[in-house]
Amino acid sequence: MVPKTLDTDVLILGSGGAGLFAALHAHKAAPALSITVAVKGLLGKCGCTRMVQGGFNVALAKGDSVERHFMDTIEGGKWLPDQDLAWQLVRLAVERIHELENELGCFFDRNPDGTVHQKAFAGQTFDRTVHKGDLTGIEIINRLAEQVWARKIARLEEHRAVEIIKSTNGDSVSGVLMIDMRTGEYLFVRAKAVLLATGGGPTMYKYHTPSGDKSCDGLAMALRAGLPLRDMEMVQFHPTGLLAGTHTRMTGTVLEEGLRGSGGYLLNGAKERFMPGYDPKAERATRDVVSRAMFAEIRKGNTTPHGGLYIAMAHLGVERVAKEFKGMVERCADCGFDLAGGLVEVVPTAHYMMGGVEFRGDCSTELAGLFVAGEDSGGVHGANRLGGNGVANSTVFGAVAGDSIAAWVKNASLRDPDRQAIDAAVAVCESPFGKKTSSGLEALRESLYEIMWEKVGIMRDAAGLREAAGELAALETELDAQGLGDHNRAFNLTWHDWMNLRSLVAVSRAIAAAAAARQDSRGAHFRSDYPDTGPLERSAFTSLRGDLVVTMKPVAFTRVRPGQTLLENVA
Ligand SMILES: Cc1cc2nc3c(=O)[nH]c(=O)nc-3n(C[C@H](O)[C@H](O)[C@H](O)COP(=O)(O)OP(=O)(O)OC[C@H]3O[C@@H](n4cnc5c(N)ncnc54)[C@H](O)[C@@H]3O)c2cc1C
Repeated sequence: MVPKTLDTDVLILGSGGAGLFAALHAHKAAPALSITVAVKGLLGKCGCTRMVQGGFNVALAKGDSVERHFMDTIEGGKWLPDQDLAWQLVRLAVERIHELENELGCFFDRNPDGTVHQKAFAGQTFDRTVHKGDLTGIEIINRLAEQVWARKIARLEEHRAVEIIKSTNGDSVSGVLMIDMRTGEYLFVRAKAVLLATGGGPTMYKYHTPSGDKSCDGLAMALRAGLPLRDMEMVQFHPTGLLAGTHTRMTGTVLEEGLRGSGGYLLNGAKERFMPGYDPKAERATRDVVSRAMFAEIRKGNTTPHGGLYIAMAHLGVERVAKEFKGMVERCADCGFDLAGGLVEVVPTAHYMMGGVEFRGDCSTELAGLFVAGEDSGGVHGANRLGGNGVANSTVFGAVAGDSIAAWVKNASLRDPDRQAIDAAVAVCESPFGKKTSSGLEALRESLYEIMWEKVGIMRDAAGLREAAGELAALETELDAQGLGDHNRAFNLTWHDWMNLRSLVAVSRAIAAAAAARQDSRGAHFRSDYPDTGPLERSAFTSLRGDLVVTMKPVAFTRVRPGQTLLENVA
């Protein structure tokens, strides 16, 4: 099957904060470039940036500083972040928030004196989270989307990227094989530069928060293209996922960090506060600490009737909670819970992948012409992402990628693709149509959820990880054997579900391999058989490729060493 071909200077995969910022910056730097944003959903309506609730971390206020934001990021990340990338994050977050307000038209909440209001987020030493109520992402994505629509930037909506295709000599990217989901037709988009910004998304866990369009496709494609991924064991669990009943689709949805930040309590099944027994910072400890304490409490059986725990806010004042957390209160009310005055059942939920494609400060990767930004990239957050640093990361590095790509394509030309690689990728996508019909996708998904939740989740050990590795490999074989009943390729959601599961299982295997290799406990990664952090001075991060062989690479302390701080030098 020979796919249709489209040529563009720049191909951006994904329309979250990273993809849209990249498009706007590339266009601003070089308006004559042909730029195409290709996205699995509808531009402006999909991905997780739109779902950002709490807000955006940035050092703006008197008394705060980029050095303080940096130290919080490094200490929160347990000394595993790439320090130069983390520095870029905190420094450019200031630029980005001004751009969002002054150029792109975002309205963020303000103090009575007109300054931007910044709220408390757990795990930080300063109240620095800029927000629009508790639905910040809608404001950001709406304004970004309007600006993209207003420019001559091409869109391929409901187009799914399925394979990164290299040039004939294999030394650079030639383009991306896509499926037009509306017709089921293949399209090869040839581009001088490609940005991977599909947003990761740990939707392989039983409870998870990300949008349904995210299935780690970008990371799976990067693995198949032979690129190195780092920190893949670092999956962040958000402590307060809504427990709204089995298969309700609302279960797992995140209730924002600010609830704990502002003084909310977590209670066990007996309605007793338990966090002070686990950590002196209690509910305001970092996400990993709180999630682990909750998991331990659940394993002890101190649960609510549905197997979770409660969050309680009423002691802060019903009216205050209703005003400050309007969106959350309404979301809970939709599911029959009274957040302001009553108790809401919650469970830790898989939220964010700190791991991703290894990249340089200009967002370039090992493969010439391929750039990466946002949640598909790894190294900025290390072992833990601070709440509020996610959208800062995607917007900061999206903009960097746009600038770098515009400069890079000046000296680049379109490169011919490896035709055999296109044929092979099409053959894989087509393979379930040639097999006897099976109806096992739901069962396979449930198995994946269970394996990842129980054995590669909040608490891990060698035996569980070994079992998981075997079970995931078997799951991959079973998936490959699946046949689809419906041969109509137009909007064939079962077909896409099969592809989603393939990506998720491939990336789950990478998570399990990295988790088995890291024989210590750091941030989001906890091994009950190796509970100690190990010497910070000898910190190393995991790096793996498609063969799943993990290398431990030393962290370069380019700006600050464990035990030191940048804050001494700050007035
Ligand atoms: C519920 C929730 C609340 C959050 N709250 C906060 C917060 O308060 N503060 C914070 O800092 N962070 C928060 N985050 C994290 C934050 O949303 C992410 O860190 C960040 O926005 C990711 O941006 P991105 O551009 O990398 O990806 P996304 O915004 O997720 O965009 C990914 C895009 O890629 C597209 N895509 C996926 N696969 C393919 C494919 N195969 N082909 C083509 N396109 C594809 C998707 O459709 C989507 O358009 C939250 C996340 C969630 C889920």
